[in-house]
Amino acid sequence: MERSETLPLSDDDRLAMLAAAREAITYRADLKSSSVKPELRPADFAANFDTSLPDKGASATSVIDDLIEVASKGLQGHASSRFFGYVCGGSMPVGTAADFLVTSWGQNAASSWESPSVAVIEQTVCQWCLELLGLPMDSGVGIVSGATVANTQGIIAARDTLLKRQGWDVFEDGLFGAPDIPVMIGDAAHSAPMAGVRYAGLGLGRATRLATDDQGRILIDTLRAELQACKNPPMVILQAGQINTGAFDPFAEAIPIIHDAGGWVHVDGAFGLWANAVPGMQDRLAGIDGADSWAVDLHKWLNAPYDAGLCIVRDRSALVSSMSARGAYLPGIGETWEPSDSTLELSRRARGIPSFAIIKHLGADGIRDMITHHCALATYLADRLSQEPGIEIMNEVVLNQVAIACETDDKTGKVLERIQEKARVYPSHGEWKGRQIIRVSIINHATDHADIDLLIEEILDANRNE
Ligand SMILES: *Cc1c(COP(=O)(O)O)cnc(C)c1O
Repeated sequence: MERSETLPLSDDDRLAMLAAAREAITYRADLKSSSVKPELRPADFAANFDTSLPDKGASATSVIDDLIEVASKGLQGHASSRFFGYVCGGSMPVGTAADFLVTSWGQNAASSWESPSVAVIEQTVCQWCLELLGLPMDSGVGIVSGATVANTQGIIAARDTLLKRQGWDVFEDGLFGAPDIPVMIGDAAHSAPMAGVRYAGLGLGRATRLATDDQGRILIDTLRAELQACKNPPMVILQAGQINTGAFDPFAEAIPIIHDAGGWVHVDGAFGLWANAVPGMQDRLAGIDGADSWAVDLHKWLNAPYDAGLCIVRDRSALVSSMSARGAYLPGIGETWEPSDSTLELSRRARGIPSFAIIKHLGADGIRDMITHHCALATYLADRLSQEPGIEIMNEVVLNQVAIACETDDKTGKVLERIQEKARVYPSHGEWKGRQIIRVSIINHATDHADIDLLIEEILDANRNE
């Protein structure tokens, strides 16, 4: 490749950027009608993909054009309004456009001194989210890559604080020989906070798995008995939004008794915490604002582009003392709001800015309407399907998640396979209470009634013909 010495941005660069922007618009415009599954599976994709290290360079335009051409065969319909798998937000166009800017500006979001606009916009989005989510406004907030990291950070802050309260300096002395921290987590918890317990060096095998009811909510009597047996202040991990049922742990009952035992309550609210933004739904999460830390995604219900989530800690100084890795060359801790003081990362992209754009675009009302609409669609779906002989709805639909089972596990598997194969809609697989399920998550900003009617049609058709 010849280097241009004169143009800061060559014609080739300019055309490559335009090609990418044009493709973004075409891709999004076609989403309503395109297949929801990748054309090629990983092995077939790899077989057709040139993996040899290029010896010589190529023009920026040709690289981007090739990328568009090649990648198109292996893209999942994650951004589609007819994608109902896992729990995936749809990356709203306004957030995606803001993400172009984030990348173009190329800011290192670590320091407010280096990038004042990024720091102030991100701090604003943190405050807006606290207000929307009904959490204490003076909490510390770290903008992280998602709920797995958010859970891990919350668990680390809990660990450090619980040890500090017992006179143990974990920063200097580590965990070997430290006082015990009893860890409790529901037996229907997501794997992410369990990974957080491992990453924090607490040992998953040492954690007590609390029994749960048929919706995955922890049983208060079990919690009470475990708390009574604790010799040291415990860390208890609760959940807002069980992945299969959408259920919430009983915060109002659980949090006060955990605090009475001197414990720390961390909540995994990856998607479910957003229900607290809707006044009509807040009774389902009553008491959740009394916890000590929360993990929530921005790339799920807020429909921000990947990757973005928040780690929120009531005691800001606990988050900062656990996460800050300040060197002597940076301003003193506490003097300014420093993004990198609240995250494991130092250098990172300004991943809070797309969420700023989305909140500004939707407004608090628009966010509430979107969440309410998704939950209403989930109820509608469950009501329609439950009228069909041989189909069972396995959860109380309290949120946006619907767990569907056919007459046998074998049939459920075949029905799901048939639906995914046709790829007009895309629910995913789950397991719940010993049964195979088709799991539907309604969480994409663009999903409408017609999309749900199509999903119903596909499920009924597959169930009748499989
Ligand atoms: C998605 C999810 C997580 C993990 O979040 P990531 O953003 O994928 O890291 C954790 N807990 C629950 C309940 C989730 O739905």
